[in-house]
Amino acid sequence: MTLQEQLAQNVAAVRARMRAAEKRAGRAPGSVLLCAASKLNGADTVRLAAGLEIDVFGENRVQELVEKQAAGAYGEKPLHFIGHLQTNKVRQVVGRAALIQSVDSLRLVEAVEKEAAKRDVRQDILLEVNIGREDGKSGVDPANLERLAAACAACAHVRVRGLMAIPPAGEAGAENRRRFAQMRALYEAMAGWGYANVTAEVLSMGMSGDLENAILEGSTMVRVGTSIFGARTAR
Ligand SMILES: *Cc1c(COP(=O)(O)O)cnc(C)c1O
Repeated sequence: MTLQEQLAQNVAAVRARMRAAEKRAGRAPGSVLLCAASKLNGADTVRLAAGLEIDVFGENRVQELVEKQAAGAYGEKPLHFIGHLQTNKVRQVVGRAALIQSVDSLRLVEAVEKEAAKRDVRQDILLEVNIGREDGKSGVDPANLERLAAACAACAHVRVRGLMAIPPAGEAGAENRRRFAQMRALYEAMAGWGYANVTAEVLSMGMSGDLENAILEGSTMVRVGTSIFGARTAR
């Protein structure tokens, strides 16, 4: 099998899983978006994937995003930034990524605001939540989410479109699903907060191992790496 055929088969399998979960959840088929997490896959591999039924690409590292975008790897597909973002790299991501999914501090919001203002653009972002309250993990503590969202109201060049989360890796089954339910509750609360520049349209959660649970709990976008590209080894 060629790499192209393998990728096509993998994407079809992921789509089938998504459709089955949508059906179980009583949600419309095709209502959940597929973000391909393409970290560590080279421009040639990503270019092959760009011809498949993928809605958006997500990159974790700024340098990879810049390089693969310059190589035209994503075709016409939108590109999101989904990794931990350092303030000193914000400059390279604002205006390049259609959505920055991983904003988790006021400092970062303010850096994005400053850069977007300078370029006279509005940057769409998601707020990343550390839903398992894990030490050393990215994401705002759920208890501080509303305060962060409220602060975004003052940032006219930032548009908060929703939430993103990566639940604890060690949890599975009902425990894992409960994290997604907690995210959904935050997302629904966010829809009612009414802060300027803050809306709840995207709930980005679910990965290769747990996308079914995420879709059952209301995810609008799953981010899938391994099930599309295979185990991560640089290629
Ligand atoms: C790598 C990555 C994913 C995909 O993880 P898989 O388990 O390989 O599907 C999703 N989200 C983020 C933020 C990632 O870094």
